[in-house]
Amino acid sequence: MEAGYLYELPSGGRTGARLGRPVAPLAVRADREHFVGVKITETELIAVLTDLRAEVRSARHLPLATKDVPAVVEAVAQVVTDLAGGRERTHCLGISVAGDVDKASGLVRYNPFLEWRDVPLADLAASATGLTVTVENDVNALAVAEQWFGEGVGATTFAVVTVGAGIGCGLVVNGALVTGGYGVAGEIGHIPVSASGPACYCSGRGCLEAIASEPAIVRQARAVTGDAGLGLPGAVDLAHAGHPAVREVFAIAGRAMGRGLAALVNLVGPEKVVVTGEGLAAYDLFEEYIRETFNAQAYGAAGKCPLVIRPLPFEEWARGAAAVSLQSLFTSR
Ligand SMILES: [Zn+2]
Repeated sequence: MEAGYLYELPSGGRTGARLGRPVAPLAVRADREHFVGVKITETELIAVLTDLRAEVRSARHLPLATKDVPAVVEAVAQVVTDLAGGRERTHCLGISVAGDVDKASGLVRYNPFLEWRDVPLADLAASATGLTVTVENDVNALAVAEQWFGEGVGATTFAVVTVGAGIGCGLVVNGALVTGGYGVAGEIGHIPVSASGPACYCSGRGCLEAIASEPAIVRQARAVTGDAGLGLPGAVDLAHAGHPAVREVFAIAGRAMGRGLAALVNLVGPEKVVVTGEGLAAYDLFEEYIRETFNAQAYGAAGKCPLVIRPLPFEEWARGAAAVSLQSLFTSR
């Protein structure tokens, strides 16, 4: 309360015959501090400014013309100035990015989309913005947002699985985000689901991500149609129009997803799995095949775990990054 984060509501007074301190409900002074959350994708920054309750006050999208680290850091600084310029009570920036991220040191060990290796992103962004910076894996940050405000409210153990450019998973077990002994946990995208499947960039074979991510589906759809210019929307259109070979590409991806999700529920036993990401645009083409293999492979009662399909805009991912920075403010003091 001394720091100004909390204040007493007026309905004070002593309760009954009990002596002691007056009882006054406390409330969070939401404007005491603002937080910036930024999600970095391959092509753009999505940034939000939140208050102390992590309510979004404003949002920005900034296209990225390059994956070059200094240019991306400069863009982060630009969007921070744009959102928080003139607000003196903004001290914390949360950045979320895909891949292998060491939150403790703020190091991005590997991001396959930006082709970054061992980038000290927290240090670079702190120098560029003057703020205290927390860097977290983007799906973990989204899981924090879901835990606080979304499908995770009231659940002690749940998972968020994202399907898009990659396939990621954030795990909350007994109320805590699981990052694992090496900062890498829940990498559902690299569970091998087909021994004879395609090679993955991670050097594995038959990984879920190598079969069911957007780039993998586009690659397979191009191969079966011979159309090298085909994109995901075109592939979805062909499948909806009944193209048998393209429909089979989505079926194979759906079966792979079902196997990966079954491995997740068998291992962790979550109360629910939230499935989200850009890949949901094609969910109707996956769904029956996901259910087919999920039901076949989920063990016993683990198979009761509901798969909650939930579109979440990138602003919600950025809000997760802001929530992670908010968390670090209160755990580091
Ligand atoms: Zn892999």
